[in-house]
Amino acid sequence: MSASVIPYGRQNISQADIQAVVDVLNSDWLTQGPAVEHFEKIVSGYCGAAHAVAVNSATSALHIACLAARLGPGDIFWTSPNTFVASANCGLYCGATVDFVDIDPRTYNLSVERLEEKLERAEREGKLPKVVIPVHFAGQSCDMVAIARLAERYRFTVIEDASHAIGGRYQGEPVGNCRYSAMTVFSFHPVKIITTGEGGMVLTNSPELHERLVRLRSHGITRDPTLMAGDPHGPWYYEQIELGFNYRMTDIQAALGASQMTRLEEFVGRRNHLAERYDDGLRDLPLTLPCREANSWSAFHLYVIRLHLDRIRKSRREVFEALRERGFLVNLHYIPVHTQPYYRALGFKEGDFPKAEAYHREAMTLPLYFGLSESDQDRVITALREIL
Ligand SMILES: *Cc1c(COP(=O)(O)O)cnc(C)c1O
Repeated sequence: MSASVIPYGRQNISQADIQAVVDVLNSDWLTQGPAVEHFEKIVSGYCGAAHAVAVNSATSALHIACLAARLGPGDIFWTSPNTFVASANCGLYCGATVDFVDIDPRTYNLSVERLEEKLERAEREGKLPKVVIPVHFAGQSCDMVAIARLAERYRFTVIEDASHAIGGRYQGEPVGNCRYSAMTVFSFHPVKIITTGEGGMVLTNSPELHERLVRLRSHGITRDPTLMAGDPHGPWYYEQIELGFNYRMTDIQAALGASQMTRLEEFVGRRNHLAERYDDGLRDLPLTLPCREANSWSAFHLYVIRLHLDRIRKSRREVFEALRERGFLVNLHYIPVHTQPYYRALGFKEGDFPKAEAYHREAMTLPLYFGLSESDQDRVITALREIL
């Protein structure tokens, strides 16, 4: 990466991280082995969840979480339109039908009021969702107490897409403890909070879900005699009892992840520090800055601003391009999923989720990552002040 170009996000790899990977390369195991188990214990221990299942991406994690929740053809699932496409694709892989819940224009997370209204309507129409996937946008938790209350009333399973939120807290407790959900998913893609190159994880407190997730990760195969149709023929014996996948994480990736976990709080602390510096530097401009919920400590995966286009004599595109020309690789999170051509072909259209669409017309993601220096951040702030 050339020194003059500032991306919106990037990983930070230490000498210790490199050494951890080299140690695995010199060991007997490369694929899923002791390092994966160790990484799972570190993350589940950190979050306070009973079980963790590491896989090769958060997309795979979401897929097997949906399958473990027995989402299938004829079932309905809901998620936020303001997310990466994987939060919705995962349920489609299972043959289920997707719908969305519009966002809260303050937090950009799925709106609990819209969710409640939509559930009342769905109950009357006999179209209740089996699974709801709230996404902790930018690293700030959704209102999980309210969502869990609705989950109990309307009998749906909650899968938290916490791809942005490892290291974040909700009501003082770590995101990922699954206190208000059946399962929580993390992503370890390099732009996220910690990385394994590619990787993801499902956390749960349920032994049954854990057992099913482990099986789905590796071909639907079991070595547990109590689950087998026949008697074990010998120590070599295994049975495939359902259709699973090869979604395993390698020990190489897990060693990197475990090493990165030692700096998780440092990563999230730095991100919060830089977010506060953006707040201070941008407060007087015609922008909406990220809201902080009182009960939440955001992992700050993203620092998103909204342009008050009625008070700026430039279009969002002009602001975006002016920053990119100066080497600041601002980005946009997210194009509402329902407006993607694939989702339009399923019947969704512009206007279906107006709050997510209005947000998307004004949103811009500024560079934010552990290694962003304060002087580079000041250059972003100065450029934005000049452009606006
Ligand atoms: C990054 C991301 C994913 C997918 O993560 P991968 O590990 O790249 O598969 C899913 N959901 C959200 C909200 C994400 O940001």
